Formats: sequence, C-alpha cells, structure tokens
Amino acid sequence: MANTMQLETLRRIVQEVDASPSLHEALDVMVDQVAQAMNVEVCSIYLLDERNHRYILMASHGLRPESVGNVSLDISEGLVGLVGQREEIVNLENASKHERFIYLPETGEEIYNSFLGVPVMYRRKVMGVLVIQNKESHDFSEAAESFLVTLCAQLSGAIAHAHAAGNIEIFRKSTSGPSYQLYQGVAGADGIALGRAVILYPAADLSAIPDREAEDISEELVLLNNAVAAVRGDIKNLDAKMQDSLMSEERALFSVFLRMLDDTALPAEISTMIRDGHWAQGAVRRVIEKHVNIFAQMEDDYLRERVSDLKDLGRRILAYLQTADTSHKEITEDTILIGEEISTAALVEMPIHNISAIVTTEGAANSHMVIVARALGIPTVVGVTELPIHTLDDAEIIVDAYQGRVFLHPPRRLRTRYKEIKKEEEQIAKDLKQYETKSAITPDGHTLPLFVNTGLMIDVVRGVQRGAKGVGLYRSEIPFMLRERFPGEEEQRLIYRQQLSHFANKPVVMRTLDIGADKDLPYFSIDEENSALGWRGIRFTLDHPEIFSSQIRAMLKASIGLNNLHILLPMVTSVSELEEVLYLLDRDLAAVQEEEQVKINKPKIGIMIEVPSVLYQINEFAELVDFFSVGSNDLIQYLLAVDRNNPRVASVYSHFHPAIIRALTRLIQECHKFDKPVSICGEMAGNPLTAILLMAMGFNTLSMSSSNILRVRKAICHVPLSDAKRLLDEALVIDNPLIIKSMLEHYFRTHGLADMVKSTRVVSV
Ligand code: PEP
Ligand code: MG
Repeated sequence: MANTMQLETLRRIVQEVDASPSLHEALDVMVDQVAQAMNVEVCSIYLLDERNHRYILMASHGLRPESVGNVSLDISEGLVGLVGQREEIVNLENASKHERFIYLPETGEEIYNSFLGVPVMYRRKVMGVLVIQNKESHDFSEAAESFLVTLCAQLSGAIAHAHAAGNIEIFRKSTSGPSYQLYQGVAGADGIALGRAVILYPAADLSAIPDREAEDISEELVLLNNAVAAVRGDIKNLDAKMQDSLMSEERALFSVFLRMLDDTALPAEISTMIRDGHWAQGAVRRVIEKHVNIFAQMEDDYLRERVSDLKDLGRRILAYLQTADTSHKEITEDTILIGEEISTAALVEMPIHNISAIVTTEGAANSHMVIVARALGIPTVVGVTELPIHTLDDAEIIVDAYQGRVFLHPPRRLRTRYKEIKKEEEQIAKDLKQYETKSAITPDGHTLPLFVNTGLMIDVVRGVQRGAKGVGLYRSEIPFMLRERFPGEEEQRLIYRQQLSHFANKPVVMRTLDIGADKDLPYFSIDEENSALGWRGIRFTLDHPEIFSSQIRAMLKASIGLNNLHILLPMVTSVSELEEVLYLLDRDLAAVQEEEQVKINKPKIGIMIEVPSVLYQINEFAELVDFFSVGSNDLIQYLLAVDRNNPRVASVYSHFHPAIIRALTRLIQECHKFDKPVSICGEMAGNPLTAILLMAMGFNTLSMSSSNILRVRKAICHVPLSDAKRLLDEALVIDNPLIIKSMLEHYFRTHGLADMVKSTRVVSV
C-alpha cells in the first residue's frame, strides 16, 4: 500500500470502528476492513479476559464463524499467547512449524501457513492480539507490520474502554464474573465514598451530555420544538444580517442549516429518539453524533467539512434546550460528582457538604481542582479515561480514592467492605485529633513548624483548628475564580483582611495572582497551545500592572495594624521580573501610606521556586528576597518534563523521583548558604513519607493542605531526625522512584506508622 493510501485506509477504519454502536460491531468492522485493505484471507482479534487469564476470539474474518466467542486460549498458550507474553510482533512464514503453535480444530485455521500477530497495548498493558493469516507461506512485509501496529495503537483506547465496561464478559455468556464494573484512574484526594452519580457537564458542550431517561416525553418534545424554532429564527436573522456582507454562495450554509432543521430532517430523528425514551438533550447528542460519524467517513472533502457545521447546529439547539432546562439534578447528600473536567470555580459553587466524592475522566493528581478538593476533604479520582460518563447518571458508585478506583453498580459484598473501611477511616481521623494541640517535634527534639495552604475560608478555619503556625501559601487566585469579574481593590482588601486577621501574630504568606495553565478565571480565559509554559503567574501580572497593583494595594491596606503579611511571587523565571515587582511594590507602598496616612511595615518578599532556572540563580535572588518557597507541584512538572494534568503520563510524575530529591537537597544547602529561610508549599509537603525527607533536607517550614496537617505532624512526632537523615542518605543513592517510596513505606510500617501508608487500606477485588 502506498503511504497516502495507508493513511487514508487507517483513518477510515478508525472512524468506522469509532462509529460502531458496540464493541462487537466495532471488532467485526475492524477485521473485515483489515482483511480487505491488506488483502489477506484471515484477520482475527483475540481479547484478553483478565479475570479468566484467557484470550478469547472476539471477531474473525476468515475463520469459522461458530468459533467466534467460543474459542479461547490460556494466556500462555499458542502463538497468540506468545505475542502477548513478548509484547511484540510475531511474523512467521509457517506457523504450524513453530513450537508454540496449537491446533484449534473449531477454527479451521490449519490450512493457513503465514501468521502475523500484533499485540494491542494500552498503557503498557496487553489488551489483546490482532492476527492476520494467509494460506501461502510467506513472511508479511515490514509495511504490513507497521500498518497493523499503527492501527492497533489507534484502536487500543476504544478496546480498553469496551474492555473496562465489561463487554468481554457480556460476549462470553458462559462467564459468571462479577456484575460490577471497575474503572482505574489516578488517586487525587484520599478517601472512600459511597453514593450516587450526578453528572456535571459544561453548558452547550454536546459531547458531554449524558444519556438520561425522559421524565415526561411530551414535555421533552415541546422543549425540542421550541428550541428548533428558536434556532431557525436565529439562522434566518443571521442570513438577513449577512445579506450585504456575504455573497449568496457564502450564505448557502444558512439554507443548508434550514434544510437540516426542516421538520422532516434532524428534528424528526431527534423526536423519534425522544419517543423511545431519551431526554431531549441526550437525543440531540445522539442524532448529531450519528450524522457526524457518517459525514466524517465521506470521501468528499466538502461533505466531510460539514461535520463542524453539524456540530455547530447541535450546539445551537442544545443551548436553547439548556436555557429552558429546569431539571438540573440536585446535589443532594452523598452525591458523587462526575464530569469530564471540573473546574475549581464550578466545584466551589456547589453545595460542598453534599459532595461525597469527585470523579473526572480528565486531569491528574496535582491539578488545581484536586488541590482544592483535597483541602475540602473530598475524595477525588481523576483521569478515569474509560469511564462511560454518559451512562452514569444516578448510578450507584463506590470511589476508592486511595487506589484511584471507581466501582460502578457495586455488589453488596463490596459495599459492606467499603463501609467498614470508611468506619476505620473515621477511627483514624478520631485518633489523629490528639495531634491538633501537639507541636511537630521529633523524638530527638527537632522542631519543624507546619503551616497551612489556604484559598477558601474553610482552609483558614481548619488550619487554625489543626494548630497551623501560619499560612505558608494563600492562593489568591481562588477568590478571583469565584467571581464574575476581577474583584475590585476594596473587595479584595476585605477578603485578605479575613485571612490575615485569623492568623494575627502569625505569618501569612500571600501569593500574588497565579492564573494561567489549569487555573482559568471564568471571565478571563487564556487559551494557549502550551499553557503550562505560557502566560501564567508573574508573567501575566507583570503584563497587567493595573491588576497587580490593585492586588498589592489591597494586601497592604489589609495588613494595616496586623503586620503579618508576607508576599510571594509565583512562576518567577528571571531576576529582572523580580526587580520589576520590587519597583511596583515600593511605588504602591509609598502611595498607600500617603493615602492612608499610616506607616505600613514593608512586607517580607519571597519567590516561589517552581521554574528550574531559579535553581541556578539562588545567589542573585537571595540578594533581593527575604525567603524562598518551593512550589514542588510545578517544579516537578518542569524538572521531569511531565504535564501535571495529563493522566497518560501520571505515572511519570513522582514526588519520589531521585532527580527531585537530589535537586531539593542541593537547593536547601544553597539557600542556607545565603542565610535565607526556605519553605515548601507543594503537595509533597503534605505527604507524610516525603515530609520526613524534606525535614531531613533542612526545610525551615512545611506548608500543606489542612487535611494533611495532622498526619504529617504525627509522622514528625514519631520519626527522629537522625532516622530521617539516614532515610534521606539512602534515598540519595537510589535511582528508582518506586524503590525510594517502598523504602520509606517499609520504615513507616515497621515503626508504628502503618496507618500513614495509603496502601494499607487497599481492597482487593
Ligand atoms: C506548586 O506549584 O507547588 C504550588 C504550590 O503552586 P500551585 O499548585 O498553586 O501551582
Ligand atoms: Mg505552582
């Protein structure tokens, strides 16, 4: 096949598979299409049934149809097993001569000599094996190998999805496996929750609309008719408005839209679906998706490009339906909030006391929303990419956020076990209460002050209650996220005053606005290709000195009479940025003193160490600042070049990475050489295992979510500094993050701190 042909064929097969309504149809389409495109006599797909450790023949073009679904091989059997074990291609001229060949009479495959097997891999795991065979003995070409490898890589996500949804069991009617479904994601904020799903979907986002049963079919039909009529009206108006500025051919789109909206066209299909029991929004999504898939497969470029028009039309109808929709699910007690992505702003607007857990298909453990969820004590699992979100409305769910697991329709046995674990959790929380009034002093007398990270008032209240020695990081962007516009100076002053006065006589480190990347303001979205490396933190505020100054002025005014304000600058990369800030700060300080006619103590100034460039400029920065604070969440992201929000690379992101441990150890020595205190306010500080290492490195303070203070304090009260130093020395010569982690876990388990190690609460299923 020529390259362009290959690409075109690949694209077509992937689209057809994606458009198939079920796994079985998708696999049937796949084997037929591959056999045809590659001109081979047999194409089969075997999927791994993990529970039974067998490969099942799920679809075949060429083998006897009756063998499909009935033939299976042990995980280590046959050539299929060999491909799976080796996790690589097996290309044989004469398969029956190979020692691993197993004769399966039901398939009739004995007449086929050549064999090419390719593993279907998803996230480093073998999901199945795709096989092509021919009667004639010959090696398959390298082009054939790479075509199948590419195809399998593209289809592995869809197969993993179906796999996770239990379709393999459904296919094998004889299998009597458990009826619940288990989805794996990334552990975000610890905890266990049992409850019912409520789907949170962004307005007018067609793809995020869940399937839901219509409560009242005739009402849904009326809603649809009204929405369609409104969209028709809009399009006619647009057409009239554009008459002078667009040529008639360019306005042809409007008549296409109107034809699609004709009573006999899309609305008729949507109505049928509503009559079948779907609510109007779900019916719109389904019908539009169906047509999008058909259009996407068309050879004609013009028609293929109509996909975006179709989607646009769908969004327009949806927008009207959503305005009229009063049926938003209520967030009642024990709600498990589920969404593709849930923003911090959307979360904090909710009745938080009713949310027992959060699950998202996107995102990773250190995203901003997760940090806030952790502060609120809401168990959270993110990056559950396979979760069939559209079908979950009101489903019964268990969230095990220690292991990043989500159980759908859990059986009684599992519910009982998790209820027990929840009870144990409550007991552990009760035991930890005694640490509220203790100081973090090691058995050999080393004191390490613990500070709290804040953003919401609840963090302040919990921080005070749990004996925080001050605020180590006030994320000032959080109140900005809760508004519909940038808050004014006086509005900000009142918010900051609350934070400062709750910790009167204790230091409060206020970070200036840190937006950009995953911290979007609802009213100021920054849309960038590579946002983690883009316009964020101090880069944004220096470009908007008016926003920066109003914040600094508000902070200064809020500190009058309290004098506990420290200012921290996020995402600093170069000394020149700091110099600019210092200039603005002096100017604002003079102006505020003049206006208020009071003397205001100049706040201590610090920078976050988040950008690796700072590691190499500590001497220059030390001359200009009073303190440093390590933002390990971002520093790890940049040192390891791993997106902190991308679930695909979540396993690369590690607090235990040797490079991180070594970089921090050297950094502390450098900061102390210049006599500057250094704190750490990233999530690393709130994990008892890493907190011990950070203590050994010599951090002056640790700052963390209020939900972690007691656990970290308990660990410090039990681990002598001398032991911590020994553990650090050991960690510094280990080259593998997992070994460093298990070395620390082993120490905790054998020194009476087993309850601090997450995996002790693992439930095996
Ligand atoms: C960090 O990067 O570690 C940090 C504390 O900042 P944030 O998580 O708000 O980006
Ligand atoms: Mg940061």
